[in-house]
Amino acid sequence: MNAPTHDEAHGGTLGARLNWLRAAVLGANDGIVSTAGLVVGVAGATDDRAALLTAGLAGLLAGSMSMAAGEYVSVSTQRDSEKAALALEKRELRDQPEEELEELAGLLRERGLSREVAREAAEQLTERDALRAHARVELGIDPDDLTNPWHAAWASFLAFTVGALLPLLAIVLPPAGWRLWVTVGSVLAALVLTGWSSARLGAAPPGRALVRNVAGGALAMGVTYAVGTLLGAAGV
Ligand SMILES: [Zn+2]
Repeated sequence: MNAPTHDEAHGGTLGARLNWLRAAVLGANDGIVSTAGLVVGVAGATDDRAALLTAGLAGLLAGSMSMAAGEYVSVSTQRDSEKAALALEKRELRDQPEEELEELAGLLRERGLSREVAREAAEQLTERDALRAHARVELGIDPDDLTNPWHAAWASFLAFTVGALLPLLAIVLPPAGWRLWVTVGSVLAALVLTGWSSARLGAAPPGRALVRNVAGGALAMGVTYAVGTLLGAAGV
C-alpha cells in the first residue's frame, strides 16, 4: 500500500519513536506467545501450581534475557559500524576538504537544491560543523544520538517481561478448573491488541496482521498443549 512513502514522510524523530514503540509491542508479543505456549504445555501435563509457576517464571527470565542479549549484540554491532563510518568521514574531511565540500553540495543538489544554493548551503554547513553535516546528509545518522545498546537491551527485556507476565499470572492465579480457559482467552485477546497496534504503528492495514498474530498464538498453545497432554498421559 502506501506504507513506505508514509514512513519516509515522517523521517527523523517521530519515525524513530514509532520504530521503538513498534519494537516494544513486538517484544511484548513475543513474551506473550512463548510464555503462553510454555505454561499451557505444562498445564497439559500437570495440575501442580508450583510446577506451572516454576516453568512460567523460568520461561519469562530465559526469554527476556535472551531478547536483551540479542538486542545488545545487534545494536552494538550497528553502533560499531556507525562509529567506523564517522571515523572514516572525519579522516576524509581532514585529508580532502575540497572534495568533501563538493560531495556535500552534490548530495544537497540531489535533494532538489539548485547548484548555487547547494554550494552555499554546503559551505555554511561545513563552516558550522562539517562532520555533523556529512553524518546527517551522507550517512543518515546523528553523531550525538547513536543508539545505546544498553537502552535497547533494557527496552526489549522489559517489553518481553510485560508480555510474559500475562500468561504467567493467568495460569497460576485462577482455580485449577479455570486456569486454561482464562489463559487462552486473555492471551488471544492480548494478541488481538498487539497485532492491531503493531500493524497500525507500521502503517499497514490491521485486519490480516491481526488474524495472523492470533492464529500464530493459538497454534503455539494448541501444539504445546497437545504435547503436554501426551507426555502427561504417558506419565513422563
Ligand atoms: Zn563526506
